Amino acid sequence: QLRPSNAISTPHLSAFARLLSSLAVLEQRDGKLNMSSLAAVSAAQKLGGSVTAIVAGSNIKAVADQAAKVKGIEKIIYIENGAYDRGLPENWSSLLVENIKKGGFTHVLAGHSAFGKNLMPRVAAILDVQQLSDITGIQGEDTFVRPIYAGNAILTVQSSDNVKIITVRGTAFSSSDAEGGSAEVTEGVDPKAECPTEWVSEDLAKSDRPELATATRVVSGGRGLKSKEEFDRLMPPLADALGAAIGASRAAVDSGFADNSLQVGQTGKNVAPQLYLCAGISGAIQHLAGMKDSKVIAAINKDGDAPIFQVADVGLVGDLFDKVPELTEKLKQG
Ligand code: FAD
Repeated sequence: QLRPSNAISTPHLSAFARLLSSLAVLEQRDGKLNMSSLAAVSAAQKLGGSVTAIVAGSNIKAVADQAAKVKGIEKIIYIENGAYDRGLPENWSSLLVENIKKGGFTHVLAGHSAFGKNLMPRVAAILDVQQLSDITGIQGEDTFVRPIYAGNAILTVQSSDNVKIITVRGTAFSSSDAEGGSAEVTEGVDPKAECPTEWVSEDLAKSDRPELATATRVVSGGRGLKSKEEFDRLMPPLADALGAAIGASRAAVDSGFADNSLQVGQTGKNVAPQLYLCAGISGAIQHLAGMKDSKVIAAINKDGDAPIFQVADVGLVGDLFDKVPELTEKLKQG
């Protein structure tokens, strides 16, 4: 703690809060606001001061109007230009920098999503400031908490940069309410920067199940499932019985049992559901990094000494090929 203990007393903090002005970067896809990007808004609200949000793309006014209802936003800046539809960081970074300069924001926040991770370091580089990555807590206007070493250590960082460029871990900040606000909606500046990159196509994994990163329940399978056929036979019925999203360990993904987009962990997705139920997962540190903030962790493993049982709230030692179908049946019977 480098700050002298008497440096900021409560009255100073509240006076300072009036000078803070944050810009939250909202994501949209095909004209629909991405609700998980609202974590940037709740982090901005935690900072105090005024909160503005920015959206850009084609037919964006409708998205701006939807975002205007989000609680806690005072102003929405929208930029109507199809060049921003796919979230390419090459032109988005120029767009953001111009609007940051115009608005004189002290803090700019985006989700720690593929979009945010791609965009914000470029913005920080253009502004010649340090980026603050994947924050999980806010201790003051310049002091932030973030996990390092795959969540094995927690770092408190203090930034002296005049503008703080931040990505926010979605599971650490609950999304702001989508209703109850009435923000002013205004047009932002569009630098129309040349984009050296062209968006060609995308191949999306489609699923009717809840989205893994934001689901309240997740069932996850590991190498113990032995094959893709067994993974597909056992995990979807369990997920359906619980109304859960499906996740997987990296070993399961690397063995071809599950799609890459389902990987949970240090190099996969971070999840913090109410329930994380895993079967045939040993509990390697890199897997725990992505799920140990779950409210209740339940594990099925045939090895009573598996490390997963050290973090599990509920553990079942047994053969998953018996236990998973049995549990699925019991859940179905209600
Ligand atoms: P294993 O470790 O092989 O465990 C299988 C488990 O299944 C065992 O505990 C076994 O007892 C149990 N089992 C077997 N058969 C049965 C049965 N019939 N019934 C019940 N239980 C059974 N891993 C991730 O998951 N996510 C990441 O993001 C990730 N990132 C990584 C990044 C780096 C840089 C590195 C080096 C590693 C990373 N890993 C990651 C890999 C990680 O170290 C582990 O190798 C991986 O998590 C192991 O997956 P697993 O638990 O499914 O497999």
